[in-house]
Amino acid sequence: MKIHEYQGKQLLAAEGIPVPQSTVAFSADEAHAAAVDLIAKTGSEVLVVKSQIHAGGRGKGRFKEHPDLGGVKVVKGADAVKDLAGKMLGSTLVTIQTGPEGKEVRRLLIEQGMDIKTELYVAATLDRVTGRTTIMASTEGGMEIEEVAESNPEKILKVSIDPAVGLLPFQARQLAYGLGLTGKVARKMATFIGKLAAAYQRLDCAMLEINPLVITGGGDVVALDAKTSFDDNALYRHPTIEELRDPTEEDPAELEAKKSDLSYVNLDGTIGCMVNGAGLAMATMDIIKFFGAEPANFLDVGGGATVERVTAAFKLITADPKLEGILVNIFGDIMKCDVIAEGVLAAVREVGLKVPLVVRLEGTNVEKGKAMLESSDLKIITGSSLRDAAQKIVEMAK
Ligand code: ADP
Ligand code: MG
Repeated sequence: MKIHEYQGKQLLAAEGIPVPQSTVAFSADEAHAAAVDLIAKTGSEVLVVKSQIHAGGRGKGRFKEHPDLGGVKVVKGADAVKDLAGKMLGSTLVTIQTGPEGKEVRRLLIEQGMDIKTELYVAATLDRVTGRTTIMASTEGGMEIEEVAESNPEKILKVSIDPAVGLLPFQARQLAYGLGLTGKVARKMATFIGKLAAAYQRLDCAMLEINPLVITGGGDVVALDAKTSFDDNALYRHPTIEELRDPTEEDPAELEAKKSDLSYVNLDGTIGCMVNGAGLAMATMDIIKFFGAEPANFLDVGGGATVERVTAAFKLITADPKLEGILVNIFGDIMKCDVIAEGVLAAVREVGLKVPLVVRLEGTNVEKGKAMLESSDLKIITGSSLRDAAQKIVEMAK
């Protein structure tokens, strides 16, 4: 689960990590009030208006409605903040991470303008190769880290945390000095990294990325941006974090899937897939690609493919406007094929069928299941193997 920058910064501040002063605003008037308040507190008229969407690259992004305007803007004075807020709120911001359709901005962060001397990069995440939390740091702050990894991989420093002892002080110092810092600033950086690692651990994050982390003119180390995501499987331990979820930022179909306990990921292709088991789902997507089409989704109905779940899954798939065909690939083990066939028939009767449907069943009672599908009055085609089924649906969808 992802959260907004302002929510991430609130969590970081509670962990003792320095962040700029800021207030979230949902309207131009709230933005104005926040600006007046910040100016009074900081004594500075320089403010930053930051679009809050679940995507990075906002600074370099552009609004569809205002092609000259970026998603992060430094301005002077409360009136300028209000004016800008009026333009940004309700407009669609396109960044390299949103895709061409962009995302509507519904919240803004009004933040004090910082005196930036240096922009650095620090992140905590899980390294799947070592199976350990890794802290990454780089002098190339403010840039996309993927680009740095591509062009200058040597500029990304890493330390791996031993879960038995946590981040050791020397590791934090190693990163701080590795970034070219010295003296007091290096010590502040080491402290910052220690707190970041602790926050990552305590909050069960999947990713905690500070880009940029800045050194101010006064030598302070401050998190200027915060990209925070959490391990969904650990959210039950953090009910207050779960409350930070912004459903307007999530795919409505994926939210619906969560309610029915289905693993669903919306993709760009045209062949809807309904499969039981994540591995089988991956194999099904591969074979669709092999025959020249693209999957419209990843969907794992899980082990207990009951009539209710199959129906819910069907509704999800068929609601997809880009759909040109459906491939059902189910292996009946504990759940017998005839029960699955019954589920598919019930779902098709309820939801209707506007595109071709190919079903491949295998496993317990497969003959009985296939016979039920073939003898029904519904236009359902059966496949004799995964290869046969995939080939058929790709052909028919063309
Ligand atoms: P994104 O990564 O989505 O582009 P950031 O929060 O990193 O958004 O902001 C982009 C850039 O805007 C930063 O690299 C920094 O140069 C500038 N910026 C952001 N917040 C502030 C601030 N509070 N004061 C001064 N400059 C800022
Ligand atoms: Mg950033």
